[in-house]
Amino acid sequence: MLKKLFQSLRSPLRRAKHVRSTPEILSAQQHPLRRGQFSRYAVSVVERLQSAGYQAYLVGGCVRDLLIDIDPKDFDVATSATPEQVRAEFRNARVIGRRFKLVHVHFGREIIEVATFRANHPQEGDDDEDSNLSSRNESGRILRDNVYGSLEDDAQRRDFTINALYFDVTGERILDYARGMHDIRNQQIRLIGDPEQRYQEDPVRMLRAVRFAAKLDFEIEPHSAAPIRRLAPMLREIPSARLFDEVLKLFLAGYAEYVYELLIELELFEPLFPASAAALKRNPEYTDKLIRLALASTDSRIHKGKTVTPAFLFAALLWPALPARVLLMQDRGMPPIPAMQEAAHQLIAEQCQRIAIPKRFTIPIREIWDMQERLPRRQGKRADLLLENPRFRAGYDFLLLREDAGEDLGGLGDWWTDYQDATDSERRSMIRDLGSKEDAVNGAPRKRRRSGGAKRKRSTPSGE
Ligand code: ATP
Ligand code: MG
Repeated sequence: MLKKLFQSLRSPLRRAKHVRSTPEILSAQQHPLRRGQFSRYAVSVVERLQSAGYQAYLVGGCVRDLLIDIDPKDFDVATSATPEQVRAEFRNARVIGRRFKLVHVHFGREIIEVATFRANHPQEGDDDEDSNLSSRNESGRILRDNVYGSLEDDAQRRDFTINALYFDVTGERILDYARGMHDIRNQQIRLIGDPEQRYQEDPVRMLRAVRFAAKLDFEIEPHSAAPIRRLAPMLREIPSARLFDEVLKLFLAGYAEYVYELLIELELFEPLFPASAAALKRNPEYTDKLIRLALASTDSRIHKGKTVTPAFLFAALLWPALPARVLLMQDRGMPPIPAMQEAAHQLIAEQCQRIAIPKRFTIPIREIWDMQERLPRRQGKRADLLLENPRFRAGYDFLLLREDAGEDLGGLGDWWTDYQDATDSERRSMIRDLGSKEDAVNGAPRKRRRSGGAKRKRSTPSGE
């Protein structure tokens, strides 16, 4: 007893166990999952590993989602085989990752992700730390996570209880180490173990909590939600490429508007989008409306099975932060157009330090913004040239978004809506009606609406 107490004092950071050493086992009669519901490739991967003498289970999102009647996005397998042993069993397998090594087994376009059971990390003060396999920085963040362990260890190191359910394809049993079934029934997102420590190990878990809460419409259990606001700034330490991936998962799954509300509520928005958060403080109503409209329209496109581009989304998220920067440049003596260019450049560069938006998206973001300057200039042949521009559609959709958010552009959106529907001669007369007011933004003459009113050709956020 005393010895135990002494040991726990000696290494206070050693994590207590939060999963049962023997799982609750639900037989096929006690739950609705059947092996036929899983990808046949995933099942075959499990069976192949088992026949080679390893333990293997379906785990994570696929078990969780099927229990809630959601179509799983992908299928994850957990196994006692090491990545090299897994690779040796399959022809089309590749070991990927460094921070977290796993194996991708390819079946045509489907990829089954196979991860080796992992153990908890040796904590500070432990003697057995091997920095090749596992390492942490001074705030406890896990930098490498390749210490393998038992099935029970593996359950313990997973993030949420509902993600630590293992499906055994042979007996169609569910192994529940962390009361995940209880939390599924009660619709709770609950971290395994001490929430603060688990967020410190990997602050991205805060974003994952939000993602699952939004996706499943579950509540973040109060103890798991409590430390988030305080720890939110830790997201600043996360490599920007990883945050880009996470942010796309957050915003491109069909519930982006709700995700945004949760991010704001839990103060996770600021560390991800600092300039946009500042714009929200400066100009709350307009900024909030523009962002929400962009996200809601992304959600609706996704639900209709339409394509969406992250460029449009980022263009909208950052747009409200532009004016203050343009003014700053103008104060330094720059003329309006170069000021806008420079502000855009700086804003995107700054944002990329947090979230590494790849060039294939930053270029169209700039083009969408550039279009905002060109759309008011419609004299002579300009309007027709703009219509032919491959970015016209995204630029026009963005213009409508700005107007819907409350910007007064003198009816420019309606003008363009009408122009697209007009015949050649109507178009000529619309251009003539513009008069000689080159670059007229405000007070652009409105064309009489045709009977029935012109329908706006919204398709935000297409960016096509
Ligand atoms: P979805 O695939 O629907 O996004 P998922 O739960 O399958 O959800 P993945 O990112 O595919 O999420 O991860 C698979 C599993 O790996 C998770 O269910 C969880 O058990 C574990 N996991 C993933 N990321 C982490 C993390 N940062 N910390 C701890 N465990 C994690
Ligand atoms: Mg998954």
